[in-house]
Order: sequence, then structure tokens, then C-alpha cells
Amino acid sequence: MIDQQLVKWGKSGNIIREIAEYCDEQAKIVGEDHVYNFTIGSPSIDPPARVFEVMNKLMSSVPPARLHTYAPAIGFPEVREKAAEYLEKTFGIPYRKQDVIITCGTSTCLAALTKVLLSGGGRAMTFTPYFMDYKYYAEAYGSGLTECPTTPDTFQLDLEAAEKALTSDTMMIIINSPNNPSGVVLKREGLEELARLLYKKQAEYGHPIYIVADEPYRDLVYDGQEVVFLPSIYKNTIYCYSFSKSISLPGERVGFMAFTPELDDYFDIYSAAIAVIRAFGYICVSSMWQRICIECLGETSDISIYKGNRDLLYGSLTEMGYQCVYPDGAFYLFMKTPEPDAMVPGDSFGTPGYVRIAYCVSREVIERALPVFRKLAEEYRIAR
Ligand code: PLP
Repeated sequence: MIDQQLVKWGKSGNIIREIAEYCDEQAKIVGEDHVYNFTIGSPSIDPPARVFEVMNKLMSSVPPARLHTYAPAIGFPEVREKAAEYLEKTFGIPYRKQDVIITCGTSTCLAALTKVLLSGGGRAMTFTPYFMDYKYYAEAYGSGLTECPTTPDTFQLDLEAAEKALTSDTMMIIINSPNNPSGVVLKREGLEELARLLYKKQAEYGHPIYIVADEPYRDLVYDGQEVVFLPSIYKNTIYCYSFSKSISLPGERVGFMAFTPELDDYFDIYSAAIAVIRAFGYICVSSMWQRICIECLGETSDISIYKGNRDLLYGSLTEMGYQCVYPDGAFYLFMKTPEPDAMVPGDSFGTPGYVRIAYCVSREVIERALPVFRKLAEEYRIAR
């Protein structure tokens, strides 16, 4: 019997991709200058120079047959070691090379960890708004995703709501800060309160509750805002990082997950994660790209360009009368829609009434789009 849940997921498509394709079709009809495509969260700025330095060095010094060989299933030991060293140096937690698994971005981490933590029938929980794939993973591998509301308009954690949403079958909490789709960075105070709540609930339920920290946007913050390193405040945290956004390499599919040595049931979870990675065939991330990415850990593309886009877009839209959540990080602006129907609909992020604008586009696209946003504001009579 084919799993009907998977069939439903496959048939549901990806609304963002569909709208992006529609934009491409329209560009052929009305001309590119008349299409303002803010749909996809794919970096628009070049990777940092270091990427190409390391790439050229590898290509000129390592024979092709070795450079393009299979990597070990969970990553080269030296790459895993460098990731562990970086985490220890940066965040003060003594990770070891055996605590790190090299993955195809955080997508692999999320899929694998959802399978590991939920296949006994548990549920995942996350905070709205959230990246829509969480729901698919939780429905495909467990008994679903609980959407916990956050504070209206600021999207910070609401601890009362969290306490209500937690149940004895909650096995994992997915936290994404800086957030896709809102750009919000979660504040330390709320996260520390959540950690206290989870310690209390673990004791009450008699089983661990794991935080999965989904952090592809960790290094994209614009005003010096602190991005709390969750393993340092809650020991049952599995940290997931990706090079897709920070150094603009989404197509190369490199990231990693790191298991705090103190994690409850460390060996079971770690071993099961390796098994799932093998069973799904998510093994042997590109030999060349994992070696390049690890040398660039901690670097970013020139994010002053995204900051410029953020400032222009946020400043102009709010001045026109639109209501937006101030985005401290990532490259998204979450805007209240003038009517309930939306463009990249907030409904698909668990938050109706909002639209996500991905501002990882050229400044020129934003400049061309602003008069259209103004016209729309006038039509909907929200203009000030
Ligand atoms: N998590 C969030 C919140 C994302 O926005 C994305 C990609 O857009 C991912 C995970 C997956 O990214 P990747 O697999 O490229 O690391």
C-alpha cells in the first residue's frame, strides 16, 4: 500500500515555486521589467572570495580522481573536526568531531531528525510563522506538527501559549531564528523561559523533549542582534547549520548537524540519525564542496547588500502605510496583506493575513516595484 500521506504531500506542490514559475511565464509575455519576483529565498549575492580561493587551491593541488571521490557517508573526519572546533571556539561548548554529521543543508537534518524523534508516534511543535516543510516532515514521519502561536505583530515567543501547546507526545520543538518567513530574531529572555518550561515538562512527562535548532540564517543579521546559541541554554538541543544562505551556496547542498555530548540518549539518537541518513540515501555530501565550505565557516557573503535592501523596502513600505514586522535577519519581510488573500501566502507559513517578500533580489527590482506597491496602497486606501 502506498502511504497516502506521502501522496497528499506530493500532490500539494510548492506554492512558492508555482508562483515563481508564473512570474517567469509572465516575464515572457509582459517583459521582465514589469514583473517583480519576490518569491524564492535564494541568495542573490555572490559567495565570498574565500570560496573561490579554496576552490582554486583544491582544484590545482588535488588530483581530480581524489578531489571528486566519495566522501565518507557522514563527512570527512577532518571536515567534521573543523566544524566541532569552530563551534567550541565560537560558542564554548566542547563538541568533538564524532558529534558532527555533514549533511545536504539543514533539510537533511530536519528530515532525518524528524524521522528519528517522531517515528515512535510523537509530535513536533514549532512557532508561527514557520517554514512550511516542517509540517510535511512531521506528517510524513510522525503524528504531525503543533503550531504554537507567537505574540501578535512581533512574533516573539508566547510562553503561555507554549505551555498550552505542549503535550506528553511532544518529542521535538523546531526553532528557527532568524526566522523564515518573518526575519525575526528570537530574544534571549523568551528562549531562556522556554528552556525552563521544557526542563519542567520533561520531568513531568518522563521523557526528553529535544529542540532542533534550524539555523540556516544564523549569520544573516543586520543590527548586531544576538542570535542565541540554543545548545548553551538547553542541553537537549541538536544544532543544524547550512552554508546555503550565509555564503550563497544553496545549490551545493552542504550543512551539518551537531549533537551536544550531554544530550539525553545521545548514542541512540546519534546512531539512529546515521541510520536514517543511510536509509534515505542522504550520504556522501559532495567531497569538494564540503571541503570548501568548512574553510569558510563563519564567513558571509557581502550582507550589507541585503541590509540595504531591507532598509529600503521596510522604510518605503511602512511609510506608504503597510504594516510589516521589523526584520532583524534572514532576507524576508513579512507584511500584513491589505486583503486576506495573499501573494506568497502567509497561510502556507501558518499565519494567514501576511505575505512574505523575499528581498534577496537586486536593488533595482525593489526600486522598480516601489511605485507599484504605492499604487496598491492607494487602491486599498491604506496609504497615509
Ligand atoms: N530551514 C529554513 C527555515 C529554510 O528557510 C530553508 C531553506 O529555505 C531550509 C531550512 C533548508 O535549507 P538548506 O537545506 O538549503 O540548508
